[in-house]
Amino acid sequence: MLADVEAGVVSRAEACDAHPDLLRAARNAAPPLGRRCPLCPDGDLRIVGYVFGPRMGSGGKCVLSDAELQRVARRNGSFMAYELEVCPECGWNHLIRKYPLGAG
Ligand SMILES: [Zn+2]
Repeated sequence: MLADVEAGVVSRAEACDAHPDLLRAARNAAPPLGRRCPLCPDGDLRIVGYVFGPRMGSGGKCVLSDAELQRVARRNGSFMAYELEVCPECGWNHLIRKYPLGAG
């Protein structure tokens, strides 16, 4: 993705298209990732987790702590967790990893 931005294949606006909810989570409550944003000078990347599955709503549930993630993991059902790095300054967002979760 970053190479595509540099080459002009993907615009900055496309790369920094974080959903307003994602951006709000990154700005207000998400823990720092400990890395600088690759696209802007002032961004400290945050890590935002989302879980999709039964009773999580169509947009998934934002999960910001390990304790919260462990609670979901103990539920019955199959869930999918996504971890994204998000820049609260410019909206850069990128999927770090996704993995299945849940006691089902
Ligand atoms: Zn940024």
